[in-house]
Amino acid sequence: MSEDPVIVAGAGPTGMVTALGLQARGTPVELYEADPEDRDRPGSRAIFVHGATLRTLDTLHPGLGSDLAERGMVWPTRRTLFRGEEVFSRTYDDPLDAGEGLPPFSSLPQVWTEDILLDTLDDVGIDIHWNTPVETVETRPDGVTVGTGDGETREASYVVGADGAGSTVRTEIGADFAGDQSENYFIIADIEEVPDDPRPTERVFHYDTPELGGRNLLIVPFQGGWRVDIQCKPDDDPDHITSDAVISEYTARALGERYRDRVEWVSAYQFKQVNADTYTDEHERVLLAGEAAHLFAPFGARGMNSGIADADAVASAIAGALAADVDAVARAEVRKCAERRQRAGEWNKDAAAQALEYLQGESPVTKAKKRLAAAAADYYEPAGEWLDDAPYGPHGSPPVSIGQY
Ligand SMILES: Cc1cc2nc3c(=O)[nH]c(=O)nc-3n(C[C@H](O)[C@H](O)[C@H](O)COP(=O)(O)OP(=O)(O)OC[C@H]3O[C@@H](n4cnc5c(N)ncnc54)[C@H](O)[C@@H]3O)c2cc1C
Repeated sequence: MSEDPVIVAGAGPTGMVTALGLQARGTPVELYEADPEDRDRPGSRAIFVHGATLRTLDTLHPGLGSDLAERGMVWPTRRTLFRGEEVFSRTYDDPLDAGEGLPPFSSLPQVWTEDILLDTLDDVGIDIHWNTPVETVETRPDGVTVGTGDGETREASYVVGADGAGSTVRTEIGADFAGDQSENYFIIADIEEVPDDPRPTERVFHYDTPELGGRNLLIVPFQGGWRVDIQCKPDDDPDHITSDAVISEYTARALGERYRDRVEWVSAYQFKQVNADTYTDEHERVLLAGEAAHLFAPFGARGMNSGIADADAVASAIAGALAADVDAVARAEVRKCAERRQRAGEWNKDAAAQALEYLQGESPVTKAKKRLAAAAADYYEPAGEWLDDAPYGPHGSPPVSIGQY
């Protein structure tokens, strides 16, 4: 077994959970982060932490999933409107348990999740090497030499590239990362709660919102605030909509006048849909995870949730490879993990693409289906439920088997 540690590049949620997963399996790990310790991570971003993610975190570090559940919130109501008319509403009196006492999801700003992960790493004695980007990665059959921004070279048994969308590790192993971009812009804003007069905690999707000139609107509560997501029309100027005056006006129309001056953060996005063509290198000594490996449009919340699933899988594969006495077994552990997660990435990308296509869909058939469903919703509940569900893509999970059987 190699004496060298595993090097993880990137202390975003994926890299931090990878380090935790390796340490939990008794594997020495070092974590390198390009940013300084006092970095600013703006915007609520991954607010929807799925129950499966909470369970993974609770397994790696008992109590961690519960911490995230306690810091976040569960919205009990989902509601959909079509051109000002309600077409679906459901309230769960007792939101389902995801098992082990955990809720089905927890809604909180990503930076809070990251703070909880930072505290957990501190508790278990994993130091982050801040301000130390991974710059070069040279793989051999028996290990990896890593060059870092402080001018040092370090030896690693394995390397995990969790260094985000612009991944250096991915470039160093020569993985291809080409893909599509959404046609429309989406405006995403975080709105601070009005503590003495809060809105009901419900997730609302509004098709063709009359108050917003017929644009689609998604409103999602999270602990401490609201996420407002406005889908631009093809000829909209995103800079105009994100200007202070316009976003405040849209916020007042979407959430109520009392929220007008409570915009904390706003940004315009075109979402990329990309999956790396390989998640490992020729010697099976490097694995990619999270946004270093894939980017999905956020409808369906597949970004951070799948990054954490990657993290757990790569930690398990590397621990298995390090425990192997036979070299071919070690290589197979890494290869199988890379293939499984790459396939999961493909599944997630397709699922997000379906959601995006549905939202952007200008085809007469898609438009007619939405109109017919809205018309039928009053007397046929599944029609309203379809309108409520479709913006998030299909349910289900990626396939897990590889090979023929
Ligand atoms: C508007 C928006 C809404 C979203 N909503 C959701 C949601 O509801 N649910 C969900 O699951 N996901 C959501 N996401 C996606 C989620 O934010 C990302 O999937 C998540 O941050 C990815 O985590 P990561 O650790 O893989 O990458 P990152 O968070 O990008 O972390 C990568 C880290 O690597 C560091 N780094 C970069 N280069 C190097 C280097 N060379 N060496 C060392 N370190 C390096 C970076 O500084 C960074 O800290 C959303 C994203 C956006 C933009």
